[in-house]
Amino acid sequence: MLPFCELSATRHGYAMKFVLLHHSACEGGRFHYRIDPAGGVESLLPESERGAHARSIGVVLSGDFNVTKPSEAQLETLRGLLLQIKLRHPDITVGGHRQVRGERTDCPGRRFPLTALRKWSADGLIEARDAAFTHAVERQYANS
Ligand SMILES: [Zn+2]
Repeated sequence: MLPFCELSATRHGYAMKFVLLHHSACEGGRFHYRIDPAGGVESLLPESERGAHARSIGVVLSGDFNVTKPSEAQLETLRGLLLQIKLRHPDITVGGHRQVRGERTDCPGRRFPLTALRKWSADGLIEARDAAFTHAVERQYANS
């Protein structure tokens, strides 16, 4: 049995390290968010609860991306969700399920634009985050 403080730390204290992307053909289990083909997003699990992978927020996009590509609406919602997550977890890295060491899967599917999305998450996402910060600071000054 862990002392309470350690138990508490495992639940809340450790920083999230990854956002892991999945398609719904994945059998990975517990995900935090689901994005449907029309671009709707649903919260399935609080971020404080462990999903399929430790220290990771799992996002599943509905569809089998070995067969089809995600819709533009799904990708747009995903980029917005990633921005929201990045604002709360500044050091987070975006990756695909298959990039987890030791996992034998092609999730989130061979037709998922993972390279483009990871490239965006490394530059476009940072710009979007900075713009959101600037906006928030400006709003704060405007209100005071
Ligand atoms: Zn997966």
